[in-house]
This record gives sequence, structure tokens and C-alpha cells, in this order.
Amino acid sequence: MTMERTFEKGIEFAKAMDLKDELRDYRKEFFLQENEIYMDGNSLGMASKPAVESLEKMIERWKVEGVRAWNDLYRYSEKIADLMAPLICASAKEVTVTGSTTANIHQALATFYHPTAKKYKILIDDLNFPTDRYAVESIVQLKGYSAAEGVKVVPSTDGQFIDEEAMIEAMTEDVAVILLPAVLYRSAQLLDMKRLTEEAHKRGILIGFDLCHGIGAVEIDFSVIQPDFAVWCTYKYLNGGFGSTAGLYINQKHFQQTPGLAGWFGNRNDTQFQLKQQFEHQPDASGWQIGSPALFSMATLEGSLQVFKAVGIATIREVSLAKTAYLMYLIDERLTAYGYSYTNKQEDSLRGGHVCVVHREAYRIAAALRDHHVVPDFREPNVIRLAPIALYTSYEDIHKVVDTLEEIVREKIYLNYSNERSAVV
Ligand SMILES: *Cc1c(COP(=O)(O)O)cnc(C)c1O
Repeated sequence: MTMERTFEKGIEFAKAMDLKDELRDYRKEFFLQENEIYMDGNSLGMASKPAVESLEKMIERWKVEGVRAWNDLYRYSEKIADLMAPLICASAKEVTVTGSTTANIHQALATFYHPTAKKYKILIDDLNFPTDRYAVESIVQLKGYSAAEGVKVVPSTDGQFIDEEAMIEAMTEDVAVILLPAVLYRSAQLLDMKRLTEEAHKRGILIGFDLCHGIGAVEIDFSVIQPDFAVWCTYKYLNGGFGSTAGLYINQKHFQQTPGLAGWFGNRNDTQFQLKQQFEHQPDASGWQIGSPALFSMATLEGSLQVFKAVGIATIREVSLAKTAYLMYLIDERLTAYGYSYTNKQEDSLRGGHVCVVHREAYRIAAALRDHHVVPDFREPNVIRLAPIALYTSYEDIHKVVDTLEEIVREKIYLNYSNERSAVV
């Protein structure tokens, strides 16, 4: 499904849209830098005033209260989970804020992957962010299988999209668990999580999703989808800052399962500080925590999630769809003549929050963009990801980015840059 939208090419149209943008007042909550357009919010979201304030408050509590603050802060993860759960329509008890995405994949698979002689494979795709695959391979190896035996990979036929039909066909009897992304980090494909979950469950297979590129940008309704588990990071669209603490969803039907990786922060709340030798896990998602919560890496989220609470994810999604559609429109109208294209599908229901721009000279163009005060994100071999963020990217910004993309190729500016890869781009 796609909403009908009409756009015009001129800058006046962009300015008029900004005046009508219902989220325009939120821009001033973010530390937008003068003379710079930040288009990499899908990789590391911008700092906001509420996020910085809540971090400062936490630092203050450390200074003033020291260990005494711990009395009410040791359960801080639950406070953040309360703010996070509405973003995926889960109950707060099904969400815990802990670890990193990758660590949480390990935790979830350690919990849910119990291979038997007949059912021992983990099913994945070959387009997901590679850390997911590394984690899956190491987990099957821990159970004594080789990666080739234990991991079933459904290859993409075009290198851009996951074919859901092929994925469903691959849900054979030997598959125990499935791990898939919600939104692909490159092509921005949004998967039909509901259908995939239904098909998995019909076959007695557990399924989990990696929401890293979806949460905070797209609407996700786990009360309907009912996956078994999910993981996500909080520094992309949720603007938690460098390595902010990640999320883990455990469907409430699994609360009685023993966490695969146990630790004292997963112990029952009422007996945790009795420090017994016998581990008894808290029967909700917080029971999947392992060690002490990283409060400084979570405090930013208390502030940043207030913005999501105030606006609601439905509005954020609607604005994000309009802004990404506008960028796609301008690329179609103005940039195809300069060798640019994008891989996003046209349908709203099939695309996430960023636009995956493709150009033969993408690497050098991305380097030139940085010198022209646009912060992009490059992905090998030929992709520039641009994320018009609902909360802080204006239509005028998008228009300027397109001007710059055009100029860099038209004036052959990219030729001044080397194709030699540097470590972080
Ligand atoms: C960003 C991202 C990650 C990052 O993992 P961390 O453990 O948070 O570093 C993992 N998976 C996907 C799909 C991502 O987009």
C-alpha cells in the first residue's frame, strides 16, 4: 500500500512543506550543526537536548548520591523498557534494556536454540548485517555443529531483497529457529513479519527479528505479530548515542524458560540481593539481563524516548514515509540523468526509514558530500544511504542534499577524491 503524495521540484515547495510539517518544532530539540545536513541518523542518531539532560542528571546522581542512588536505579532498565515497549506494541514486561544487539542475539539463541537430531538448523538470510550471522554461526558451533551443517542460509537472488516465498519454502522440518531483520540495512526492505511468523509457527519453528533498522522509524505491532524474540540497538533511530544499551523482547509465552546465559541481574527481583547460590530467574524479560545495567549508556534513552512518547510512532512513520518519498521523487526527477538510482521499493509497506542510493562512483561521491557539509553513510560497493529523519530533517535539507548530489557529478567534483578505502566511513 502506498499513500498518494504529490510533490514539486522547486525549493519553494520544500519550504512550504516545512511550514506544514507537524514535527517541525522538534528540530530545535536536536543539536543540529550550523551549515551541516546530517543524513546518517539510521547509523547513529543525533544528540538531543532531552537525551543529554537525562544523562547529566544521571552523572549528578553519581556525584551526589553515590551508591545510595543504586537503591532505586538498579531496576532502571525496567523504566526504559516502559518507554520502549509502546514502540513495538509489546507489554513492558516483554522488553528488557540490556547489552548490545549482538550480545542479545547470543542470549536469545542460547535460550531458544535447543537442537535435536532432527531439528537443529538456524535459518537466516544472506543480506542481514553480518554480526547477526557471526553470532548464529558461533552458537551452532558451541552446540557441536559446523556452521555449514547448522546454519541454513537463504541466498538473495538479486543481492538486494529477501524473497519471502523462498524463505517460507526454506522453513523445512530440520529448522529449529529463524532469525531475520525487520528492515534490511542496505536496501531498506521492510519484511512482512506477521506472515513470516505465522508460517514459522505453523511448522513448529521459533522465530526472532532484528529490529535495528526498524525501531523508531516504522510501526511494529508485536501484539499481532507475536514473534518469539527480538533484538535491537538504540543508537540509530532512537538517538541513544554511541553504543547505548540495546533492547531484547521475549514473548510472554516464554517467560518460564530458563535464560540461556544466566547472571545475577536475571535473578528474581525479590531475592536478588539475598545473593543465594541457586539461580531463580525473574519470570519476565528482565530475567534475561545478565549483569549490572550500564546506567550511563541507558540514561540518554530516558530523555530521547520522551520525544517518541510525546509524538507517537504512527506520526513519526507517516512523516518519515513522506520525507523519504520526497527524496525518492527528487532522485527520479533530477538525478537519474547523472547515474543515480535507488533500490527502495515504491510501496510504503515495503520500505523502511532510509533511502538506499546507488551510483557507480558512490564512494567518491560520499567523500565529496562530506566536504560539502552533508553527512552521508557509505556501504560497499556502491551504496550511499541517506536517512531523512522525521524528527529533525527538513524538506529544505532534502532539497539541498539533492542539489549537492547533482553538483558533485555534474561538475565532476568526485574526480578529486580517491577511491582508496579508509577504515570508517
Ligand atoms: C546496527 C546493527 C547491528 C549492530 O549490532 P551491535 O551489537 O549493536 O553493535 C546489528 N544488527 C543489525 C541488523 C544492525 O543494523
